[in-house]
Amino acid sequence: MKLRYAILLGLTAAFVGGGVAVVRQVKIAQVQAPASAPEQPAAPAPQAAEPVAAEDTPPPEVTAPAAPIRPTVENPLPENPTPLVNAPQAGPRAVTAPPAEPAIVTAPPLEAPAPAPAVTAPPMEKPATADNKDSTAAKLLFAAAKLPTLGKAMAIGYYPRGCLQGGVELPVNGPTWQVMRLSRNRNWGHPSLVQFLEKFAPAAAKATGWKGILIGDMAQPRGGPLPFGHLSHQVGLDVDIWFMPMPGHVLTPEEREKTSATNLVADDWKHLNPKTWTPQHAAFIRTAAEQPNVERVLVNAAIKQELCRADSKASWMAKVRPWYGHHDHIHVRLACPADSPNCRKQPPVTGDDGCSDKALAFWFSDKVLHPPKPATPAKPPKPLMLADLPPACKSVLDAPAKTVKAGLP
Ligand SMILES: [Zn+2]
Repeated sequence: MKLRYAILLGLTAAFVGGGVAVVRQVKIAQVQAPASAPEQPAAPAPQAAEPVAAEDTPPPEVTAPAAPIRPTVENPLPENPTPLVNAPQAGPRAVTAPPAEPAIVTAPPLEAPAPAPAVTAPPMEKPATADNKDSTAAKLLFAAAKLPTLGKAMAIGYYPRGCLQGGVELPVNGPTWQVMRLSRNRNWGHPSLVQFLEKFAPAAAKATGWKGILIGDMAQPRGGPLPFGHLSHQVGLDVDIWFMPMPGHVLTPEEREKTSATNLVADDWKHLNPKTWTPQHAAFIRTAAEQPNVERVLVNAAIKQELCRADSKASWMAKVRPWYGHHDHIHVRLACPADSPNCRKQPPVTGDDGCSDKALAFWFSDKVLHPPKPATPAKPPKPLMLADLPPACKSVLDAPAKTVKAGLP
């Protein structure tokens, strides 16, 4: 009896012990599995942020920018149209957005912008009142304006220092385009920019065989400085367009927030990535540069170099200029429209196609690609205040909102 009991006990212990061992193995296997099977390929090349001076004007024509600027490769900030200065960081994630940022919940819904009169603007650190407008960074004042002004459309001031009256909205879906990052409420511009995109989108689709294009940041409803992402894009004449074909379906708002544009540049920032660069991208850039009211198309230097190699004599080549970042999108800048006497022109491009070794060498120098780290982190530049903008921008900020789209009289 005792013996049978002992055997039984032994068997039970062995069974339980084995069971535990099995369970443990399974657990170990579960823990180890992801390690040996990475979910994602190696981290993509820095999704770059347009660096602080990106797109700032005038783009370097002959001379190098005076201020040392960290190259994209050093810039840890993710994402296409990206944060730079004071960036609340890439993704427009509502939870991480600082209070002063336009909260994601107030972004206009996909199809129909909400009737969002200025008074319902999200709370800001310092509410924009008559009292503190002069002491609040202009980017916060302009970001809080959710609708454009009434009145005739006018681009006012300079691309990195101005504002927009009578802005119009690019519909978020068109036959050959879709707007990305809807939460940013930056699909506004001078009517000439919207007309340009309505014309360029089908032309680019035709030239590339793509279904259409993906449009990133344009301007805020009243233009002005932006809380993150760009120094320019202030007068409603700048737009970022992604190096990525529009997919065949209507993207969900979430897809528009989370999808990243394609990086065409190799990790050394001197060559293209043969896995992502295609002849369609060259056709896409050429089509943009060929449009008559386009003054500049900014691209990464590695892309410019390839375009030069393929056809340096092209008539549109001079408009395509290298600039920091811009490895996953082009930045298109239109000329000042005739209806905007207060729009400040930038210097026209010279006959120089920008393809000479000398012109390109700067962009591949250590100074740009591997700048020495400053001993102390550079202080962020002082933000633009309302007083730094053309006086008319104060009126733009104070003007009644265009509420037609909201269904109000
Ligand atoms: Zn841009």
